[in-house]
Amino acid sequence: MPVLLYAPGSAAMPSFAAVTQLPDSLEEVTGLWLDAAPDALLELLPGLRRHAGAAHLPVFTRAAPPLAVAALADGRADDAGSAAVLAAAWAPSPLLLPGAAPAPALRLARYLYLRPGTCLRPLRDWRHAATYRYPLAEAFADDGDAAGLIAGLLAPGWLAPLRLVDRLRRCGHCHSTHLNYVDVCPQCHALGIVRTRFVHCFTCAHVAPEVRFQRDEQLVCPQCLTRLRHIGADYNRPMEQMHCLACEHMFMEALVLARCLACDHEDTPERLPVAPVHEYGLSDRGHQGAREGALALPENRLARPHRMDADTFAGLLDWQLGLARRDGSAHAFCLLGLRLEVPDTLAAHLGNVGLAQLLEAFAARLGALLRDTDLVSRPADLCFWLLLPDTGMAGVARLLERVAALAEDTRQPDAPPLQVRAAAFCAPANLSVGERASDLLTRLAVERDAPEA
Ligand SMILES: [Zn+2]
Ligand SMILES: [Zn+2]
Ligand SMILES: [Zn+2]
Repeated sequence: MPVLLYAPGSAAMPSFAAVTQLPDSLEEVTGLWLDAAPDALLELLPGLRRHAGAAHLPVFTRAAPPLAVAALADGRADDAGSAAVLAAAWAPSPLLLPGAAPAPALRLARYLYLRPGTCLRPLRDWRHAATYRYPLAEAFADDGDAAGLIAGLLAPGWLAPLRLVDRLRRCGHCHSTHLNYVDVCPQCHALGIVRTRFVHCFTCAHVAPEVRFQRDEQLVCPQCLTRLRHIGADYNRPMEQMHCLACEHMFMEALVLARCLACDHEDTPERLPVAPVHEYGLSDRGHQGAREGALALPENRLARPHRMDADTFAGLLDWQLGLARRDGSAHAFCLLGLRLEVPDTLAAHLGNVGLAQLLEAFAARLGALLRDTDLVSRPADLCFWLLLPDTGMAGVARLLERVAALAEDTRQPDAPPLQVRAAAFCAPANLSVGERASDLLTRLAVERDAPEA
């Protein structure tokens, strides 16, 4: 299987290198092209995504990959030249993360992080016990437990459900979705039940299937032995009923049981656990986690005031809004929203890795400008929220001047520097009745990101 390695900035390697096997180190490689048949891609693509060095790289294929592994490739290229062009232009995020991520959960989170718009899409497969599979999660689950991998990312809130695709009833014992629904006797649960015509003897009130009354082409009650001649006078026929051949129980409606085809467990349908099937995407918290490389948030979320998760930040903002409403001018603070814009020429000049380093340096220097008591959250690569206690508009203006100077420092010889857009809110001056943190953050983000008039 020829693989084309694309390593434009490498000193040790030509920018295109064709190999038959992946080298151990892919340090300077920024893209791959697989010249293989669709069947071979079924094995190759999951293998690549498990490879610590290739997990995040853009991978292009000559042939269209089968549906089961389509989510693991980044597009098609007919030949090596066009693959190199695609790899060079591949910049789904300005932050291409260097180094290898060891844990499968982090590898998967980073894969999604680097491909905005990519999500964990369930693929229906009747051969699978859960009926739906997540090929992308399977490729990253080293131990084969894709469901466990997804659960591990859902628990800390890294993944969020995007769209409800289906709802499945599962076996309460083994979780298989392969169930058979059978009608059985409500008394003894036997399968052998039949729909029968019944006869009701008026003399002794005996009710039994018609066959029990049939004797020499006549109807004779098996209990009181009366000959039943006239319907309406001697007997009648109640409504058609069900009859259990095992226990003779008579009933109007059969009991429906769900039988697990995998483990034989039986349950009534209303007792079966119902599981939604979702498409999942990376949440804001997942973005932050993928960027910072730690699955667990620190126990004390105030321990790192300049790297707060979005939820804690919003919670503290609500608290500050409440204090400002209560104490008025005695409690002043400012909320500042910053968004960076990367000019195309700057992105082209630096390349993915260079740009990632530049942005991380910018974030670090921004943190250094702030006081320890200021809070910062970075919900997306290019967005920052700053909560500045005891600060007024004049303080914000001074800070913005210094931020502008930081941005100016990113100027390259032949490319403009990072652009910064900002929007500020000062309490108590800008307080409005009933506005909560989430409303305020949304409103300010719209103001900040609006194109200049
Ligand atoms: Zn089962
Ligand atoms: Zn009778
Ligand atoms: Zn029965």
